[in-house]
Amino acid sequence: ATPTALMVGTGRGAQLGILIKGPQVLESTRQVDTIVLDKTGTVTTGRMSVDSTVGADGENIDELLFVAGALEDGSEHPIAQAITLAARADGRPLPRIEGFSNHDGRGVSGVVDGRAVAIGRRTWLEQDWSLVAPKNLEVAAHDAEADGKSPVWVAWDGSIRGIVVVSDTVKDTSKEAITAFRTLGLRPILLTGDNARAAVAVAKQVGIEAADVIAEVLPADKVSAVKDLQSRGYTVAMVGDGVNDAAALAQADLGLAMGTGSDVAIEASDLTLVRGDLRSAADAIRLSRSTLKTIK
Ligand code: ADP
Ligand code: MG
Repeated sequence: ATPTALMVGTGRGAQLGILIKGPQVLESTRQVDTIVLDKTGTVTTGRMSVDSTVGADGENIDELLFVAGALEDGSEHPIAQAITLAARADGRPLPRIEGFSNHDGRGVSGVVDGRAVAIGRRTWLEQDWSLVAPKNLEVAAHDAEADGKSPVWVAWDGSIRGIVVVSDTVKDTSKEAITAFRTLGLRPILLTGDNARAAVAVAKQVGIEAADVIAEVLPADKVSAVKDLQSRGYTVAMVGDGVNDAAALAQADLGLAMGTGSDVAIEASDLTLVRGDLRSAADAIRLSRSTLKTIK
């Protein structure tokens, strides 16, 4: 009877928009008490757009966005796509880039029109490129972050030139999903590479405690965050969509991938939420619990 009940659970999962790798997966969900959520693309839509561009003293913001967009054309990151799209609105063809490099979870660098350009997170420009953030940008970035937005720092030829502020929106189903997790007795935790202030602002919108936000985490450290919770005795489900979530999804006791996300994340996971709707994660856990109850 056991395998049959599990098969029925699997079939019901498909109806709910949940693809289950194998019937045994339902078993591993039973003990889950903590649910770690990636921010971008999981709790938010992941469709970023440029809100504003702020220049350091004397910088032309149209030029700033244009140079940033040219370099970001080499990256597939959602932030990069937003910046390139905004830069193209200028109408001029984007210049070719030379020596492009992607620095995972930090930013990108390369040569645009003879300028050595780096774009990414502030701490990366400060620590790896020894640059100093101008005061006016610091203030503008702080305000943007408090609003849940992400400032991206643009530098070339030894100076920070400005910030491009990007944002995306919380999915309208996320808050309801988080309420459902709590009803199931799960503690939701937000895990992101993005800045802490923006992460806390998003957490607040969906009902996650500020104390349960883990921000500014490098892709390689997402897996450590999951391991750390496990070593403290928690049984962890993780929901993510990105290539940078794959290792953490595999490490979690239960990995759930957004069907709208990358193939790498889907392959690393036990369950796929076909519609990319976080509420399906709660459905999956409820389903596995009721399926297992039927068996007992
Ligand atoms: P997330 O966990 O939100 O998916 P990532 O780990 O991909 O974020 O990136 C973390 C941070 O690194 C971003 O918020 C951004 O500041 C910076 N970053 C990463 N890639 C880029 C890029 N192509 N251009 C600019 N900034 C980037
Ligand atoms: Mg993501």
